[in-house]
Amino acid sequence: MATTMSTRLREVEVQALDPARLEPLVGPERMATFEATAARVRELLDGRMVLNVNSTAAGGGVAEMLQTLLAYVRGAAIDARWAVIGGDPAFFAITKRIHNGLYGSAGDGGELGARERQAYERALRANADELLALVRPGDLVLLHDPQTAGLAHALHDVGALVVWRCHVGRDEPNVWTERAWAFLEPYLDEVDGYVFSRAAFAPRWADPARTFVIPPSIDPFSAKNEPMSAHNVRRALAYVGLLDGDGSPPVVPFTRRDGSPGRINRRVDVQQTGPAARPGAPLVLQASRWDAWKDMAGVMEGFADYVDPAHGAHLVLAGPAVTGVADDPEAAEVYDDCLARWRALPHAARSRVHLACVPMADPDEAAAIVNALQRHATVVAQKSLAEGFGLTVAEAMWKSRPVVGSAVGGIVDQVVDGEHGLLVDDPHDLPAFGEAVDGLLRDPGEAERLGRNARARAVAEFLGDRHLQQYARMFAALDGRGAGTEVGAGAAP
Ligand code: UDP
Repeated sequence: MATTMSTRLREVEVQALDPARLEPLVGPERMATFEATAARVRELLDGRMVLNVNSTAAGGGVAEMLQTLLAYVRGAAIDARWAVIGGDPAFFAITKRIHNGLYGSAGDGGELGARERQAYERALRANADELLALVRPGDLVLLHDPQTAGLAHALHDVGALVVWRCHVGRDEPNVWTERAWAFLEPYLDEVDGYVFSRAAFAPRWADPARTFVIPPSIDPFSAKNEPMSAHNVRRALAYVGLLDGDGSPPVVPFTRRDGSPGRINRRVDVQQTGPAARPGAPLVLQASRWDAWKDMAGVMEGFADYVDPAHGAHLVLAGPAVTGVADDPEAAEVYDDCLARWRALPHAARSRVHLACVPMADPDEAAAIVNALQRHATVVAQKSLAEGFGLTVAEAMWKSRPVVGSAVGGIVDQVVDGEHGLLVDDPHDLPAFGEAVDGLLRDPGEAERLGRNARARAVAEFLGDRHLQQYARMFAALDGRGAGTEVGAGAAP
């Protein structure tokens, strides 16, 4: 089922999860620090709400993160909410152009001039009217990504504390980043704070005193990351069509975000020649949106040309069904291009490469399918050409998988080359990528060592308590009454 593109604002229901469930992972000391911080934030907020605004409820890293992070905030008795803006196709074409610009490319080649500004502002005006009905003076509003930047003035005018968080960026500015920032700058002059995943992503004009660096996090208990036995992993993947085997309906359970049990029912739309991989065959996986920056086609060609077929390894490129992500209008085109290049592979290579479109009608079920894939993978690739912070990388690390990533953007902060995975300096270097994957397939001991280190780092740095501590510090610094108060002294830098 396609996600219908809505032009209206809508609120996403957020469940409450008790943050104490993190304690077995983070230990009593870290938990106590978190609880003290939560108490201080409740006091500072004094009943005011924390509203997050983005542009899709499912698909991609921001939606993935909000789903679970906000549940812990609610579980800490803080009124955290989530609204998703709507827009027409013209709006999402413009915002995708800005998104691509912030990564440093021309995107679809279209303009970002006066006409685009008009269309952008028109779409957001309708959303602002509905949003203002929800917001009271003093509420903290976190706007996510370029799609929401144009709401900042209206929110500031009604007395909200407005923070704009940008999840994408490029270390070195170029003509396209400058163009995209020039488009956004007039909307963001009055915001109280900026948040970036890395310091290098901040534009020149962002006031350093109001700029905060906060990397994202994952939830270890979500359907995406919860434990799944090797047996259930195999049954789930056989059922959805990604492993050879008995495709009869399995009872592979997963936990929905509301805590209720689910079971995998839908199959994946798989493009393959002949049967799926045998369960014992090594699996290389990249799970990403069908977005040119993820370079799925490059992963495929690097695998086909530079990974020794003698390993008998298969590659799965998995992405959300191309109609499934409301704010991502280029997905179908990127998938089609990948499919055309898959068809052009020599037969033997093609039979080891599988293109998978995961149905998004039920995001928790989709997450469970990706969980099974990541857990089955021998190597997880993230050969992005640019990346803010790869949630996929953090998810793989949490699952003790060795990652082969490009040395770009936030991936460099996540993986130390040779310690938690392997980094390829030039993201366009297919031989280097293929050789890194090949090396790990050849040396399971080394792959296991990297995976073990990766897991330890994910626990230390990529869980929600660290993330929420950093938000709490930011809030204390921005909020008039909290300025100068030390909140969450134990938070990671
Ligand atoms: N993902 C998914 N289904 C897929 C492929 C990816 O749910 O078919 C998820 C993936 O597990 C991760 C998110 O989408 O949680 C992607 O986040 P990331 O930060 O890696 O990249 P973004 O999409 O934000 O650029």
